Amino acid sequence: ASPKHCQRSQTRIICRGLTCTAEHENELYDVIISGGGMVGTAMACSLGLDPNLEGKKILLLEAGNKKVMDKVPDAYSTRVSSISPGSATLLSGVGAWDHIMNMRCKPYQKMQVWDACSDALITFDKENLQDEMAYIVENNIIVAALTKQLENLSDQVRVQYKSKVVKYTWPKSHQVADAIPWVQVTLANGQTLQTKLLIGADGPNSMVRREAGIPTVKWNYDQSAVVAVLHLSEPTENNVAWQRFLPTGPIAMLPLSDTESSLVWSTSHRHAEELLQLDEESFVDSINTAFWSNENHSELVETAGSLFRTALSVLMPSAGSARQLPPSVAGIGPKSRIMFPLGMGHASEYIRHRVALIGDAAHRVHPLAGQGANLGFGDVACLTQLLSQAAFNGKDLEILLCEYLYLF
Ligand SMILES: Cc1cc2nc3c(=O)[nH]c(=O)nc-3n(C[C@H](O)[C@H](O)[C@H](O)COP(=O)(O)OP(=O)(O)OC[C@H]3O[C@@H](n4cnc5c(N)ncnc54)[C@H](O)[C@@H]3O)c2cc1C
Repeated sequence: ASPKHCQRSQTRIICRGLTCTAEHENELYDVIISGGGMVGTAMACSLGLDPNLEGKKILLLEAGNKKVMDKVPDAYSTRVSSISPGSATLLSGVGAWDHIMNMRCKPYQKMQVWDACSDALITFDKENLQDEMAYIVENNIIVAALTKQLENLSDQVRVQYKSKVVKYTWPKSHQVADAIPWVQVTLANGQTLQTKLLIGADGPNSMVRREAGIPTVKWNYDQSAVVAVLHLSEPTENNVAWQRFLPTGPIAMLPLSDTESSLVWSTSHRHAEELLQLDEESFVDSINTAFWSNENHSELVETAGSLFRTALSVLMPSAGSARQLPPSVAGIGPKSRIMFPLGMGHASEYIRHRVALIGDAAHRVHPLAGQGANLGFGDVACLTQLLSQAAFNGKDLEILLCEYLYLF
């Protein structure tokens, strides 16, 4: 559609979407969530469903396109997350889990983590091997499921896609004549909005965090993660998540189906680049070698480890787990190899006057524990509870924010 021009309150803006946004120019919201990734979209659903927040004006702003999925693609996506039962409960509570189950998701019952330099091994499982330990879900399925749920909440939550925020103007903490008491949000199309509470869910390079001046401890690991979709040599029950610690970093194989798994291989940048350059056969050989080979076994490490395990078995007679071998890999999905530089980041404060950070905007962690998105969903549960309580007590939504810090 050709751009339309809209006029209101002497403000002239250009609307590129099908809906003209001028009617919302300078509009005051109770909550604006900046960033509609997995965490921001879950936050929008969670607030929209809370009965105590009924009637509050809530807006989700996302720079990218709306992510809908009318049909699940045959090929698996390379970006997946291991979703904990706690996160599944949160997603279920906001009505997205049923959509996820109807689309695609793979539960697993056990995890084996072992060392490449010794026989050290640890397994995590549920006693009866019946309950799910966690679920592997494609990130785009999580966002599509939450987006679908948001469509049902259109009376409670407004959503603007293709709406990149370019500026935040903060309220002055002391009374200044004519000063706006709210956070002002300026979009790339020139539109300005105001909010009583801004929730920054805009990812690891959060502009909300930066512009609010919140100090952040962060560093880049000297590592990148190579991710890919793996075809297994033969169908298996595939209900175990595998992770092996190599001298260069951990390699993980996460179940997607009876015949496919997802690879997350954290290694040096140079090795990651080499892995991307390999032809498919050599890449697959490297993966199988990384999981199966004992070439890194060291007598010194093994002796030290064995002494430690003997000591441990005195204290914990049941310590020690049966070793299982992972499935072998036969091929990879088309164009499924990508690498991501890895980093750590932690905001020294999650709240400021009229601002709260959630998800990777507040904390970015190494993917080896598969906890980044899970921590973000924890933020959603915690912040919803506080805002709901504030609304129930008839208080300014900001009042209880300081407790957000202590609920972790
Ligand atoms: C290889 C790898 C494997 C991982 N595996 C797991 C796992 O198994 N389990 C797990 O729990 N976690 C995992 N993680 C971590 C997980 O992917 C992240 O924690 C999660 O994606 C963070 O979500 P988020 O919504 O906070 O941020 P993001 O996904 O970064 O979303 C931020 C959103 O904000 C939008 N945005 C940014 N700036 C603006 C702006 N100015 N205006 C408007 N919108 C804006 C962006 O378009 C984006 O949609 C993994 C990470 C990696 C790299």
